[in-house]
Amino acid sequence: MSQIMVLGAGMVGVSSALALQARGHQVTLVDRRGPGRETSFGNAGFIQAEAVEPYAIPRDLRTLLSYATGRSNDIVYDPAQLPRIAKVLLAYWRNSAPARHRAIAATYARLAQRSTADHQPLIAASGQDNLIRRTGYAQVFRDGSVFDGAAREAERLKAEYGVRVTAKDAATFASAEPGVKRPVAGALAWDDTWTCADPGALTAGYADLFTRQGGRFVDGDALSLTQSATGWQIDSAEGPVEAEQVVVALGPWGPDLLKRFGYRVPMLWKRGYHGHFDSPTPLSRPVMDAQNGIVMTPTTRGLRLATGAALVDREAPAEPRQLERGAKAVSDLVDLGPRVQEVQWFGHRPCLPDMLPLVGQAPRHPTLWLNFGHGHQGFTLGPTTALLLADAMDGQRDDLATALAPASRPAAIH
Ligand SMILES: Cc1cc2nc3c(=O)[nH]c(=O)nc-3n(C[C@H](O)[C@H](O)[C@H](O)COP(=O)(O)OP(=O)(O)OC[C@H]3O[C@@H](n4cnc5c(N)ncnc54)[C@H](O)[C@@H]3O)c2cc1C
Repeated sequence: MSQIMVLGAGMVGVSSALALQARGHQVTLVDRRGPGRETSFGNAGFIQAEAVEPYAIPRDLRTLLSYATGRSNDIVYDPAQLPRIAKVLLAYWRNSAPARHRAIAATYARLAQRSTADHQPLIAASGQDNLIRRTGYAQVFRDGSVFDGAAREAERLKAEYGVRVTAKDAATFASAEPGVKRPVAGALAWDDTWTCADPGALTAGYADLFTRQGGRFVDGDALSLTQSATGWQIDSAEGPVEAEQVVVALGPWGPDLLKRFGYRVPMLWKRGYHGHFDSPTPLSRPVMDAQNGIVMTPTTRGLRLATGAALVDREAPAEPRQLERGAKAVSDLVDLGPRVQEVQWFGHRPCLPDMLPLVGQAPRHPTLWLNFGHGHQGFTLGPTTALLLADAMDGQRDDLATALAPASRPAAIH
């Protein structure tokens, strides 16, 4: 049994705290806000067992031109930021080359495919089955040629990974979703995905389970972390907190803390927005409007529209044009109803250029452990990498854990 401090109470940190607690360690979870209030609060709520391949940068000229000219709503960027992110984008681009991406996906698929099974015991033990829908989601397409291409790609994923996906023609989709106002060219039904009606509440519910089982949550600033002769210490609202080992699960803020200990972790922050609408349109499952880069998830707060990626400065103020464009685009599919009044939320997908989360021991500090960089799928993968991390901290490491470990990835952390 060891005393362990987990820094960051998003889905990844809370899941890590639970996995370490289950192995008999004495765990303190630290956050400067409550559990599940940042990126794990505002995402689209998909637990994506179908996300077997991580998002690569497209390499076809047509798509790149649509990004460059601002025609795509999937990815937008601030030209002033390009020089600052050029190096990390270039590394991401290199890793998006087909052969490299295939090798990365071989690891990624093993994580994604067990994600729902790894969430299930936590959903059950925290008593939150009411938040989970196991209907999958629909991806709709407006142009026949784009749909045909996507259906071929879905067939490939089905053949290579066994993903459960069905192509539906316009009439079949219309009868499944009678609330959708306008015919679409076709839809893909991804059946392996679970979706959550309140991602922040699910994360907070997992944290409640951790404290009910004897874990401790403290309000503290991770950036106050110092190393002592016997271990680690941070300042918290309850005074200094000490532990023999530390886990950094700070999502988008992981690199900030590691910099203080001499590490460089190149990260691409892909910002996303959400907004809720009091929509009268019933949807049997969440719907992604693939060509407009927007997802619609029924949640406890209303119909949540979540956007694609904005490559902007992490500290830049809210500029939700993607959300506004997306809302305008989907208003011909559903009656959105009035926008729920709320402070504009945005968060950052913490993406590493090799598209894999960083899980394992810090290269030069044997009692400092990392679990962050889950990019587009941290809500999905939190419980899975938490189990791998807990194994590694207990000295067990299989080939999957080795593939994610900092020691195997000198370009991801140095
Ligand atoms: C619009 C959008 C849609 C998305 N949709 C999905 C989806 O459908 N499915 C999916 O799997 N993923 C999705 N993602 C990605 C997913 O949300 C993230 O990968 C995931 O939430 C990351 O979890 P985390 O625990 O690593 O980070 P976070 O949830 O951000 O947690 C980090 C924690 O660290 C704390 N922290 C930071 N700095 C300090 C400090 N100095 N001191 C103390 N505490 C600190 C923060 O308060 C926070 O609680 C989406 C992301 C966005 C932006």
